Amino acid sequence: MSASSSPASNRTTDPSAPCWQPDPRQDSVLFAPLLTAIGVRHGFTTRCGGVSRGRYASLNLGRNWGDDLQAVDANLDRVARIAGFSVDRLTQVRQVHGSLVLHVTAPERATREADGLATSHDLALGVMSADCVSLLLADDEGRVAAAHAGWRGTLAGIATEAVAALATLGADVQRIRAVLGPSIGPCCFEVQRDVSDLFVAQDPAVLHERSGRRYIDLWRYNQKLLMHAGLRTEHIAGNPPCTRCDAERFYSFRRDGAQIGQHLAFIVGGSS
Ligand SMILES: [Zn+2]
Repeated sequence: MSASSSPASNRTTDPSAPCWQPDPRQDSVLFAPLLTAIGVRHGFTTRCGGVSRGRYASLNLGRNWGDDLQAVDANLDRVARIAGFSVDRLTQVRQVHGSLVLHVTAPERATREADGLATSHDLALGVMSADCVSLLLADDEGRVAAAHAGWRGTLAGIATEAVAALATLGADVQRIRAVLGPSIGPCCFEVQRDVSDLFVAQDPAVLHERSGRRYIDLWRYNQKLLMHAGLRTEHIAGNPPCTRCDAERFYSFRRDGAQIGQHLAFIVGGSS
């Protein structure tokens, strides 16, 4: 597997989960075969191959944590070039850890508060993260969605809302594919009892206790929501690399604190 730098403890469940394919040009973008197979342009950026410096090194796509915006623009140009989308089609929301998924038909750049987007238009939907789960969804007819699922959004059911948004656009849920992006895994997502209790009340199986510490499996919780929403098991790629475990490839808020870089997960809609 290309995710070979992740520790064995990351491999929580499905050994047949699709491998991650690094971009041959410096691993700047990871692609999911599940989406590539149906011709959907998409990707999850790593921290590799950009021009940002210091704590932001090097492929930072975040604009709100103090990095030089010229560097961020150069990084975005690079990602767009690799992935084959036009920067002026990038469409984002102001992420607020909720579960709202907006339908969009024209580009907008983080003007509205929400945590997910869905479209059937030729837009590059993008969500930012630095440990939170990013979700990319698509059917094989040009309908796509992107969502940001931190623990609050995960618990609020944004995965379910993203599937519902695609269904509203006319998608058959049996044909929707969903991929979880690099994010903090059950190996590293330690929480206090108040948070773990919220999850356990919904699904006790997402709690792992080790050495008196409590860890939550956000990947499993999101996978389960997607399955309950009607997706086929083989249409879910739910075991991404852990961002906190892999400092060479990923930013991690848990590992490094604030004022760091952020990753962009993106997916392009419309029939090409
Ligand atoms: Zn980890």
